[in-house]
Amino acid sequence: MSWKLIQRAKKRLSEERGTIRKEWSAKTSLCLAFPNRYYTGMSNLGFQTLYHQLNQLEDIVCERAFLPDREEFPEYRKTDMALFSLESQRPLYDFDILAFSIPFENDYLNILTILDMGKIPLLRTARSDSHPVVIAGGVAVFLNPEPLSDFFDSFLIGEGEEVLPEFLKCFDQARSEGKTRREFLEKTAAIKGVYIPQFYQVRYSDEGPIKGFIPKGNYPRRIQKRWVRDINRIHTTSTLFTPHTEFNDMALVEVNRGCPRGCRFCAGCFIYRPFRNRTLKDLKKDIEEGLTHERRIGLMGSAVSDYPHLGEICQSILDLKGTLSISSLRADSISEDLIAHLKASGHKTISLAPEAGSERLRRVIKKGVKETDLLRAVETIVKAGIPNIRLYFIIGLPTETDRDIDEIVSLTRRIKHIFLKVGRDQKRLGRIVLSITPFIPKPSTPFQWAPYEEINSLKRKLKIIKNELRGEGNIRVIHDLPKWGYIQTLLSRGDRQVGKILLAAHHNGGNWRKTFKEINLNPDFYVYRERDLYEILPWDFIDHGVGKDYLRREYLEALSQGKE
Ligand code: SF4
Repeated sequence: MSWKLIQRAKKRLSEERGTIRKEWSAKTSLCLAFPNRYYTGMSNLGFQTLYHQLNQLEDIVCERAFLPDREEFPEYRKTDMALFSLESQRPLYDFDILAFSIPFENDYLNILTILDMGKIPLLRTARSDSHPVVIAGGVAVFLNPEPLSDFFDSFLIGEGEEVLPEFLKCFDQARSEGKTRREFLEKTAAIKGVYIPQFYQVRYSDEGPIKGFIPKGNYPRRIQKRWVRDINRIHTTSTLFTPHTEFNDMALVEVNRGCPRGCRFCAGCFIYRPFRNRTLKDLKKDIEEGLTHERRIGLMGSAVSDYPHLGEICQSILDLKGTLSISSLRADSISEDLIAHLKASGHKTISLAPEAGSERLRRVIKKGVKETDLLRAVETIVKAGIPNIRLYFIIGLPTETDRDIDEIVSLTRRIKHIFLKVGRDQKRLGRIVLSITPFIPKPSTPFQWAPYEEINSLKRKLKIIKNELRGEGNIRVIHDLPKWGYIQTLLSRGDRQVGKILLAAHHNGGNWRKTFKEINLNPDFYVYRERDLYEILPWDFIDHGVGKDYLRREYLEALSQGKE
């Protein structure tokens, strides 16, 4: 027991607004775990919404747990204290259910750290009826849960608000009937959207790809994702406020879910189908509520600039003496009014995502943004007096050549030309930041078959861009490291075998290089291999409502457009 760690948790709680505390008596206890630090988790709107929604259920007590901060690890080690929940400081192993909400693959190792520190066996096969049932949901999981299948008793495929209450009802019933863990899991397998990995067998061919994915009994062959038909039914807004998080001065409000555009690399677009907008009335209500907590409203969604009443929403926030924030805008939906609203809200930077430098490659990825849109957007932004622009580019996209890389440089220069010309007139000059990430082929998108580009080739392309733009005033280039893209691709496109690599990496303290040397599996097989168009993919059993034939056609069309 560490008094120091308990005091830290209590201090954190004392600085929060919106914490919910419930008595434990006769209720199902669920610990909602975020596989990253408190600072990161507390800005995650989905995590907050679930916390609030679950605590509205009378028979559930829901608390939170996070990966400890770096400076807390030595104290945990010294005292051998089990990782505990924030609200009641009870060890994770005391809960009935431990539910992870997992947005990113790169947090997978943190999951194992949390289980380890919570003194819960890592492997599901090593858990008994006395251990919590360990479940997971979140974007990463409903893209492809297979690399995590050794560690979880159950996955919830789809939008958590829809499936989790049904799962919990089943748990409650099973408990009152005295069912064992296995009997409970068998019961939940009948719930649409629930995937229990132990009830399925995966067979591999000698060459490595999957030969069969077979239910071990009368379980569904495919798991249908769950989605919320009416997103106005659930208020996806900030309910917890703390100074110790990224969006510490904002109330976040979801505007829409999914995106109607269909960019071929974009997982969010394909798994959050259909695209759903909130009604103006409900959105306004939530914004008014948000303004009672913070004066700044963060409008959330992948396609905020596609919201049909965006202008009205922005104006109403300003009329209520609030300010607003939007994370990223489509260049072709930028209007003078919208930029004026953002300027009035104190925005100093606007982010645009051309993704690719050339028109050809933007056609291949179906981005649908033209250079004229981009240049016009830059002009509007700088004219309005917003000094900085951030440009998101992806490198290593299918069919990309060095000419496309050169086009990133020349497009940036053309953008800079407008930026300087208009900015000088305005006597306001800021900076253009290029943010470059390697392309990660994501499951359930048309590019799911494409390989990740070789790390050395990505490094070379980054070098070209950096060398060309070195010394150019007002431009800064930042980028993700290709080696982390490699790991993300491995975890994103892996099958069950990748769980072994993950476990070994955990035992090696997160040292991937050492792990790859030791393990008897070739990670390149998952990362660099272009998948056969007709092979069984590890995530094929998930039914997102988008047919594989359609994705295949889209991929082939992209490749043929690349040849034009
Ligand atoms: S516009 Fe953005 S969110 Fe929409 S599909 Fe394209 S990349 Fe995804």
